[in-house]
Amino acid sequence: MPLSAERHNEFLPQGWTVQGTQGVALVVTGPSGAGKSSVIDELLRRDSDLAFSVSATTRAPRPGEVDGRDYSFVDPEKFAEMVEAGEFLEWATYQGNSYGTPRTEVEGRLAQGQDVLLNVEVQGALAIAELGLTFPLVLVFLVPPTREELVRRVRGRGTETQASLDARMAIAEQEVLEIPSFHYLVVNDDLEHAADHVQAVLAAERSRIIPCSA
Ligand code: ADP
Ligand code: 5GP
Repeated sequence: MPLSAERHNEFLPQGWTVQGTQGVALVVTGPSGAGKSSVIDELLRRDSDLAFSVSATTRAPRPGEVDGRDYSFVDPEKFAEMVEAGEFLEWATYQGNSYGTPRTEVEGRLAQGQDVLLNVEVQGALAIAELGLTFPLVLVFLVPPTREELVRRVRGRGTETQASLDARMAIAEQEVLEIPSFHYLVVNDDLEHAADHVQAVLAAERSRIIPCSA
């Protein structure tokens, strides 16, 4: 997809630009099972100009997950070294495993004008929101249509034990209390529809008029 015309528009007065002149970081957060990975995969499939921020995790790969594409799978010692070296923009512990966003996954690509999608749990997304970043940040909270559907999806994925499912549901109840801290709520009822919705958010944010120093 070509860069949007707004990025180069001659009618913008001096001192003003649009967010799309630099890359936009779009964080997709929400409870486990909301469909964050599914929606992000659909967006990446639709637009090859979008980049995905590959997180590091100490969790074991699920069947079909590929190291370096879905996650960088690292052992706890390596993760601790990365924390110590300041390599993460943010990191969090979720259900006994560590997950972190490497700075290089985000900052380099944004600097080149590429939009970057991030899949992070709610505490990590809140942490990113508070970093005072120099690049445009859009925070999307994704939910399934109902709690019942959330249980059905996590169960349907077939990767959780009953105890892990219960734990994820309890975490979800805390996470949804944070919805007011985010910019957009997207209901993932139908995958295509949810992906359309997030694409519309991204398009709107690229067009947002902001002051600039130049
Ligand atoms: P998350 O990344 O938020 O944990 P996933 O993308 O892994 O969630 O989705 C959880 C499960 O729900 C997966 O089995 C996925 O195929 C399914 N799923 C995702 N979106 C939808 C949808 N709109 N309708 C039905 N099932 C969905
Ligand atoms: P899962 O084990 O289901 O892949 O992921 C569990 C949770 O970790 C999900 O809610 C996912 O969004 C989150 N997650 C994935 N990568 C990161 C990351 O880099 N940072 C944080 N804070 N959470 C992450």
